[in-house]
Amino acid sequence: MSEVIDGKKFAEGLRQRIAQAVTDLSRQHRITPGLAVVLVGENPASQVYVRNKSRQTREAGMESFEFRLSADTSEHELVGLVERLNNDPKVHGILVQLPLPGHIAEEKVVNMISVEKDVDGFHVENVGKLSIGEDSLVPCTPAGCIMLLKDRLGDLSGKRAVVIGRSNIVGKPVSMLLLRHHCTVTIAHSRTRNLPEVCREADIVVAAAGVPEMVKDDWIKPGAVVIDVGINRVDSGEGKGRLVGDVDYEKVADVAGALTPVPGGVGPMTIACLLRNTLIATCRQVGVTVPDCIA
Ligand code: NAD
Repeated sequence: MSEVIDGKKFAEGLRQRIAQAVTDLSRQHRITPGLAVVLVGENPASQVYVRNKSRQTREAGMESFEFRLSADTSEHELVGLVERLNNDPKVHGILVQLPLPGHIAEEKVVNMISVEKDVDGFHVENVGKLSIGEDSLVPCTPAGCIMLLKDRLGDLSGKRAVVIGRSNIVGKPVSMLLLRHHCTVTIAHSRTRNLPEVCREADIVVAAAGVPEMVKDDWIKPGAVVIDVGINRVDSGEGKGRLVGDVDYEKVADVAGALTPVPGGVGPMTIACLLRNTLIATCRQVGVTVPDCIA
């Protein structure tokens, strides 16, 4: 049986270290990090995410500013709010919850967020900086995957990594981060041929395809570390849903060296890394060294 990579526990520890760093920041520099979260419309999943983000922000000792706008908010109004938040010194991080309603151009809004406050790391300038290896705000879920991998493996240098998925939110940024850590990276996607064979080469598999339980035991090299990013709700009979990842957990657990469960693996790391990004953004904006304890 493989080792379970307990993302929930790791994220709790990270959140505690962040909370301590926030206390130190406010004692030593009289600064409280502030995160603004903007939600447009009534998407139920987004409402849950926003509620959790705001709660955990407050629990970490940061200020949480929540903006809930109606689904018919115009692009102009939303851009106006983003501009106000860009200029508000109490706000160090801005997150506009995606997806936005169809009449609003997501890219335009995301790229209006000040680069220094873009705690989701989706601004085109932060994406560019990540790809050329400059310091930037890095997308939260990919950052969480790398923290779990480094915790399990230490040095990632020279490892063969296969990332399944090439989205801008997960697949591409996690690949860039693996490259930054000197892995040999293959990015697989829906047109990749012989995917099981490609995966069998890997010391590290990151599954982010959004296909329930697609990664099977015979895709995995014995001892490989498997990070399951997928969150899929499947019918478990009697109309009840249950969450599964992109990895067939029970089977892969017999082969992998270590594996993240779903839920309780990568998921909890995402909000913890959002808080981490907010702290990093605050430190950079006020000219304070980012504490080592959140590295
Ligand atoms: P996406 O739909 O934007 O991208 C999916 C990618 O997977 C695409 O690049 C596609 O080419 C590839 N793909 C699809 N089917 C494939 C197949 N059969 N074989 C190989 N590649 C295939 O999805 P996303 O936003 O990157 O999210 C991926 C998964 O991760 C989803 O399940 C999502 O819910 C989950 N997710 C989890 C978190 C978290 O916090 N844990 C955050 C973001 C996304």
